[in-house]
Amino acid sequence: MINEQSSKAKHSSWWKRRTRMEKWLLLVVAILVVIVVIVLAVSLSARKIDSQVCLSPSCIQTAAQVLQKVDLNIDPCEDFYKFACGNFIKDTVLPQYKTSISSFSIVSDMVDEQLRTLLEKPIKDTDARAFVLVKSIYQACMNTTEIEAHSLEDLKKTIKGIGGWPVVEGPEWNERLFDWTSTMYEFMKLGFNSDIFFEFSVTPDMTNSSRNSLTLDQPYIVSFDKIMRRGYNETIVQAYHNYMVKIAIAFGAESERAHKHMRDVIELDIALTRITVPSEKRRNSSLEDNPFTIKDLEKEFPYVPWLEYINTMLYPVKTMTYDDRITVTLPQYFYELEKIIRSTPKQTMANYMYWKVIKGLIQYLNNDIRMLQLEFSKSVSGRSQLEVRWRECVQKAQRLYIASGAIYVRHFFKQDAKKTIVELVDDIKETFIEVLKTVDWMDEVTRQHALEKARLMRAHIAYPDELFQDAKIEEYYKNLTVNPLKYLESMQNVSLFGQHVSFAKLDKPVTKQDWESHANAVVANAFYDQNENSIEFPASILQGVFFDKQRPHYMNYGAIGYIIGHEITHGFDDEGRQYDKDGNLVDWWQAKTKSAFDEKAQCIIDQYSNITVPGINLNLNGINTQGENIADNGGVKQAYLAYKKWVNKHQREQALPGLPYTPEQMFWISAGNTWCDVERIEELRISVMDRLHSPHYYRVNVPLMNSKYFAQDFNCPAGSPMNPVHKCPICVNTLVPGSSTSTLSTALRVRGQANPEYLTCALAVIPTMAPSKRDNYYLRPVLHQGRPIASPTSELHNVPQFYSTRDERIKRINNKRAYELHLR
Ligand SMILES: [Zn+2]
Repeated sequence: MINEQSSKAKHSSWWKRRTRMEKWLLLVVAILVVIVVIVLAVSLSARKIDSQVCLSPSCIQTAAQVLQKVDLNIDPCEDFYKFACGNFIKDTVLPQYKTSISSFSIVSDMVDEQLRTLLEKPIKDTDARAFVLVKSIYQACMNTTEIEAHSLEDLKKTIKGIGGWPVVEGPEWNERLFDWTSTMYEFMKLGFNSDIFFEFSVTPDMTNSSRNSLTLDQPYIVSFDKIMRRGYNETIVQAYHNYMVKIAIAFGAESERAHKHMRDVIELDIALTRITVPSEKRRNSSLEDNPFTIKDLEKEFPYVPWLEYINTMLYPVKTMTYDDRITVTLPQYFYELEKIIRSTPKQTMANYMYWKVIKGLIQYLNNDIRMLQLEFSKSVSGRSQLEVRWRECVQKAQRLYIASGAIYVRHFFKQDAKKTIVELVDDIKETFIEVLKTVDWMDEVTRQHALEKARLMRAHIAYPDELFQDAKIEEYYKNLTVNPLKYLESMQNVSLFGQHVSFAKLDKPVTKQDWESHANAVVANAFYDQNENSIEFPASILQGVFFDKQRPHYMNYGAIGYIIGHEITHGFDDEGRQYDKDGNLVDWWQAKTKSAFDEKAQCIIDQYSNITVPGINLNLNGINTQGENIADNGGVKQAYLAYKKWVNKHQREQALPGLPYTPEQMFWISAGNTWCDVERIEELRISVMDRLHSPHYYRVNVPLMNSKYFAQDFNCPAGSPMNPVHKCPICVNTLVPGSSTSTLSTALRVRGQANPEYLTCALAVIPTMAPSKRDNYYLRPVLHQGRPIASPTSELHNVPQFYSTRDERIKRINNKRAYELHLR
């Protein structure tokens, strides 16, 4: 202690002894020293930051791409989609010929451009036949001189030759000579659309997925189903009528007659739409697995000579007998159809059938006719210009998806990407399996089934090796001919060829590694196939914003990783879960676990149903979109956990220049970037009403709002828009099938006391409406944070929720049912 004091005294006297000048100099030196120390510290710490930033050319490029999309002025906790996509939205101009621009359409456009360079090369003697076919289709489509000169006249002649369109023929049309099934047979022979009153397809048998069966289903009528159901007063429906009238006149009809006849046609269209079962009610597969012998079909639905009809359709590929079985998805539709067919005058039947055929062929006709189509499509989708011709023709050539896929992957696909994607898929699947092992609402029996299903889920990545084998592709197309001078005729041949390929499958066992049905490498989409329990990621989607081997892993996990997780989750969404590990319709769920699942699904249904989309003032259809929403919520979570696991095993990754975010934050930014889009409002309206995917905005924001990891990584305050207190699944309750209202309310009371939070999540008892299960009830949240959930969706809640299934999501691609990642 004492030494300290003496030194102080000494110091003070030393300072006093300095001259004024010396004091000043010392002060200046001291200040300089401080400055040098600060500069050194700053430069050292800057060097430390530098080492955490990746400055490789690929990182710089990736950073530039992200910076073009994000709007750093937006608070990520307020609206993450706007944060991740703000600049993209501001800078993207939607051309007149597009209804939307998204990461998917950008990749598709790039693939089209790449293919164009190959298709425009002249046909050479050395070209394999399959490639000659693709090039010929492209040439036929590009030959507008020929199309302008002959297409309409050719089609008019063909139609007159098989009986004629009454609206055009007028009094000369002979009703006595018309029989609707005979006309349908003519359509079949010509490769015209014959899926008019019902449609046939070849699909794996629901309960025995190792064999194929012929399935009879209701028809697809229009893209604006919900509006059509409301009837003629709707503007779009009237525009549709107007379009029919103009087409009839272009085919030679008198104006007055065209108005009158086409009014009958649209009324029939409305009537048929109204008897079709809406997609909300088609989510339970077991209700649609109804085998009928052909003999029984003729007894139940005698207005069609089924054996003759089916055999004409299958000719020359196969012949069936009265004892053969086919699957009827919706018998109730076919009972209703009888009333309509029996009460509709022959003239209207004929007008309707020819209209349906012509509608599908307008795309192959001359420009004047196509402008009428465009005029109508403007009122539905807002699109007011046609695509440039070459792009349309590349897309038509892609109808030969195996040949165009082969050309594409041989020239453009980066082969080394495949291996990395295989690892990524394994990785995410492994994470999914780990999550399955820990979910607390699953009993052990169900869990074992689920684990097995996940382990056996097969992945088809990029393309099958057969796309490099000319002989295989040659063999596949051996029965197809096209004429580069005749566009319409060539496309009719392509349709017939496709049908024959699919009918031929009726006699073959299903081979689950069937390369032909996993060869569509040029589609920028991804799939889950419930009949195969397989996932598919075509070459096209393994590039661009979705995947790049060179960039940091967080970018890939957020983009293609989310998509891989999405497809895996489809195996366990409200529809996928009805199928087992082999793709058979088998109920492998224990009752209690099933109930717990239904409650979680219900939370998702309610959460999305309560969202009103600004600009169009419509609520999301939480029932129709539930499968996709479940897949989105599960998908992004698995991808995130898989990334965290990757980091633990490898190393923490560097940041990107100009983006001062952690790897975890970058994962979410990449997930957001993947879904950036701009869309016409007309398109948005139709998609909210009729499609199975939520708009991209919600595909980002809602799963992230439900994720505690997101909230942690961005430090979003509880209750902020992106970190709401109520998250799905939060209302975890017990569903008691068959129990009475009073036992349920007792259960509610008890649980309410045990867990006060539960009171913010009270439940109502709603009877399920499945005819066979009329006594059952399920619970759904009616309170949200103590406030009643507004019920703009009450209409939706009136429909049976847990017993309807298949819908257009299971779009037929290569004649198999598959879930699509997105619909465009
Ligand atoms: Zn999906």
